[in-house]
Amino acid sequence: MRTGQTHLFIPGPTNVPEAVRQAMNVPMQDMRAADFGDLTLGLFEGMKSVLRTERGTVMLFPGSGTGAWEAAITNTLNPGDKVLMARHGHFSTLWAQMAERLGLQVELIDIPWGAGAPVKEIARRLGRDAHDEIKAVFVTHNETATGVASDIAAVRRALDENFHDALLFVDGVSSVGSLDFRMDEWEVDLVVTGSQKGLMLPPGLGILGVSEKALEAARSATMRRAYFEFSDMLAMNADGYFPYTPPTPLLHGLRASLARIATEGLDNVIARHTRLAEGVRRGIAAWGLPLVAEHHTLYSDTVSAIRVPQEIDAREVLRIAYEEFNTSFGSGLGPLDGKVFRIGHLGDLNEAMCLTALSVAEMALYRAGMQVQLGSGVGAAQAWFAADAAARPFLH
Ligand code: PLP
Repeated sequence: MRTGQTHLFIPGPTNVPEAVRQAMNVPMQDMRAADFGDLTLGLFEGMKSVLRTERGTVMLFPGSGTGAWEAAITNTLNPGDKVLMARHGHFSTLWAQMAERLGLQVELIDIPWGAGAPVKEIARRLGRDAHDEIKAVFVTHNETATGVASDIAAVRRALDENFHDALLFVDGVSSVGSLDFRMDEWEVDLVVTGSQKGLMLPPGLGILGVSEKALEAARSATMRRAYFEFSDMLAMNADGYFPYTPPTPLLHGLRASLARIATEGLDNVIARHTRLAEGVRRGIAAWGLPLVAEHHTLYSDTVSAIRVPQEIDAREVLRIAYEEFNTSFGSGLGPLDGKVFRIGHLGDLNEAMCLTALSVAEMALYRAGMQVQLGSGVGAAQAWFAADAAARPFLH
């Protein structure tokens, strides 16, 4: 029997705050009742604040981030359209695969896992696209597999400087609600996220932010779609309804999580992620282990992907953490399997939780055979958190 708490430090699903869990504990309700909009209409507005958009439209599909990718593609593009994207991690690889499966012509920029979106190369390809064949540029804001955050504003500039009209698609699954994301300012046309990461909810919602330009594209896009048809969703959403049964407990949860984000303040949420991530990174540096991210400007504030020494099997580290210490970390995905483990540091998180993550990771590394000084990572993070707390005003 396992006693005490199980600790979840995977980069999603993340820990659900108790208040949000309780908000979801509701009797089932009539999704066609006259007052259903009292629950739902505010959610679209709240989600717009998190995406930092006034002009965009939010859609909430029962599904996950992958479903939202599909909704974005099939509603706005045409069979055979050319799209430009970089492949530099597990999720950008899956997104490219989906685009190909759906019949798009994918122009791939293959770069190392650990690199960020290759803005110069994107600009070069857009610049030589004299006949505007590229209809969309896909960018993964935060590559969860590698712990790399890319510069979306720079990709927007690459489009503008080349006077290119392609739609800008952003995968914000592990960034929205945790990292700085600005849909209107960066003129993002389609942003995709899921409920189970920065929004601190169980999985089950695929969320989209859609620009006016993308909605215009959707009016004539001929790719086949049925369940994810934007126009069906929008027609019903106007009065707060859905074209099919929505997951009402999750919608109650979303209302509670949006209220938490609003109470803390989105800027503070983002700053907290940066502060906590820095503590975790200092701990990792104290072990002498490198991150997969190639450069410090790419470090993700939601997940750190850590390379273990060659003689250590990262799968052992994960197994030991789980079996001996009731703690889950993220595994190394694809080619990083066995070489990398990941600490997810996003969502409902504080300093003490980060210290627990580092403490267990240290013990698991030690038990897996690494000559790590026990307490070294925890100590480095403590020093950072303590100094940082002293410098900040009392928050409560
Ligand atoms: N994109 C990124 C960056 C992700 O991290 C994930 C999941 O972890 C996905 C897409 C897929 O989302 P989902 O698992 O919700 O379908």
